[in-house]
Amino acid sequence: SPEGRALYQVHYESPEGQGSAFYDLVVLTTPLHPSRSNFTFDNFDPPIADLPGSFQPSVTSVVHGYLNSSYFGFPDPKLFPFTSILTTDTPELFFHAMDNICPVNVSAAFRRKQPQEAAVWRVLSPRPLDKPQLKTLFRSYYSVQVAEWPTYPRYDAAKALPPVVLHESLFYLSGVEWVASSMEMTAVAAKNVALLAYNRWHQQLDKIDQKDLMHKVKTEL
Ligand SMILES: Cc1cc2nc3c(=O)[nH]c(=O)nc-3n(C[C@H](O)[C@H](O)[C@H](O)COP(=O)(O)OP(=O)(O)OC[C@H]3O[C@@H](n4cnc5c(N)ncnc54)[C@H](O)[C@@H]3O)c2cc1C
Repeated sequence: SPEGRALYQVHYESPEGQGSAFYDLVVLTTPLHPSRSNFTFDNFDPPIADLPGSFQPSVTSVVHGYLNSSYFGFPDPKLFPFTSILTTDTPELFFHAMDNICPVNVSAAFRRKQPQEAAVWRVLSPRPLDKPQLKTLFRSYYSVQVAEWPTYPRYDAAKALPPVVLHESLFYLSGVEWVASSMEMTAVAAKNVALLAYNRWHQQLDKIDQKDLMHKVKTEL
């Protein structure tokens, strides 16, 4: 650009066709690992390398049905008190976790289902659940929807965290998943990347990596 800043040309393909545009700042917010990404970086010197590490495949089943509370030690379904069921790392276990899920948009009158009522559960498992496994977790069910994903980072697979700054004004947000994979972490990373991009853009370098920040944060109240 005339001010000597980097300018990024982004090529993209969408259902409407191919396109291309120039940007001063680019923030990438999807995992860049080869199994999850279809991005390529051309003409960077030094080149932007593929990020190391791999993702753990996992299956999500969304089941509408009646929980088999007996399996979890509650013969009377009315007395089942939990909305999440977590497991420890047990190789022979066929599921990892179950959560009773609610719609995203709920009215003020919305109440979570009573444990004995049919509810929607999200079941995470290493492989697709077969009929006997579904019948183990649910007394009966109306529907099952299944999605297979490269879900969580394999935390043992990466030796270092991915970079946040890929190039001068090219930022990468999703690397935070390698610390912990959750919506909250993504929101924190998004705020941090926005602040970093802003401060770099305005040359407010004293605001970046402030040495006494922890002290300031602790004493600001
Ligand atoms: C099965 C599963 C269960 C999870 N459960 C929880 C949970 O219970 N609680 C929790 O807090 N977190 C959970 N997470 C993690 C949470 O989903 C992520 O942390 C969060 O979605 C990350 O948000 P994001 O906007 O950074 O990325 P994403 O939500 O992954 O969004 C990235 C977007 O980029 C798009 N994209 C990819 N490539 C391109 C491209 N080339 N061009 C344009 N667009 C592109 C994708 O289509 C996608 O829409 C779960 C994740 C999975 C997979």
